[in-house]
Amino acid sequence: MSDEIPFDKTLDLAPGTAQEIVPGVRRLLADNPSPFTFKGTLSYIVGRGRIAVIDPGPLDEKHIAALLDAVRGETVTHIFVTHTHRDHSPAAARIKAATGAPVLAQGPHRPARRLHAGETLRLEASNDTDFKPDRTLADGEVVEGSGWTIEAVATPGHTANHMAFALREANLLFSGDHVMAWSTPVVAPPDGSMRDYLASLEKLRHRSEPVYLPGHGGAVRDAPRFVEHYIRHRQRREDAILRQLAGGEADIPSIVRAIYVGLDPRLIPAAGRSVLAHLEDLVARGRVATEGEPSIDARYRLR
Ligand SMILES: [Zn+2]
Repeated sequence: MSDEIPFDKTLDLAPGTAQEIVPGVRRLLADNPSPFTFKGTLSYIVGRGRIAVIDPGPLDEKHIAALLDAVRGETVTHIFVTHTHRDHSPAAARIKAATGAPVLAQGPHRPARRLHAGETLRLEASNDTDFKPDRTLADGEVVEGSGWTIEAVATPGHTANHMAFALREANLLFSGDHVMAWSTPVVAPPDGSMRDYLASLEKLRHRSEPVYLPGHGGAVRDAPRFVEHYIRHRQRREDAILRQLAGGEADIPSIVRAIYVGLDPRLIPAAGRSVLAHLEDLVARGRVATEGEPSIDARYRLR
């Protein structure tokens, strides 16, 4: 297996118009492009006539109108949400208000671990803390709709409440921000956890769906193999951090400078949180030591 993740950065889709990507599944792009969201968030519509919406998207009037327009004349029976980032979940309340459909998700937003003294949910600007599902879903729970069957697949890591959704009839998985074809997601403590994230990748590696439809960008093809690339990528990142520490005690900014060469400057803070996520995991496993709790400002050394 080559060392590089075989990213696919194509997405032939304009915002505002629903497009059928596989029979019985439509996608609709929100116009919220950014270094974190690629060309924007994708909302999915599952079925025909009596349908489910997956990830209604950001609180964007144009996107909400386009989504309601796309399902005009049909009945929305379920609204699924993969996770509580502001580009995925806030429009759920609006789609519910317009259609009466219940909102289903793993749960409200929560951190992946208890907060350390003085720590806040640093990425709270990106968290939808108002989100409350009408029905919480357990891992493996199956929801039957009209002509579609969706299995909830708990995939914590990017957020603690992240869920993927397997569509049995099409043998595909809506992977949210857990696995995407265009990039790897941010895993940032305390909202995210590298240990959970890796366990969730391991879980998907053993599933059979060959195609994933992510929250951003085009479909993931040959998905189990793509997931293996993701796992290797994280192992290489961990190895790179350990190599830096083998040269002596270091802080997170110096590790980021050494291992993220040519990074978009807008992504440097997220890279720091991602390195922290790895260091938390390494400290928990006894490979790395630090004073007190692992934090963004701490210094780290090999044990
Ligand atoms: Zn997200």
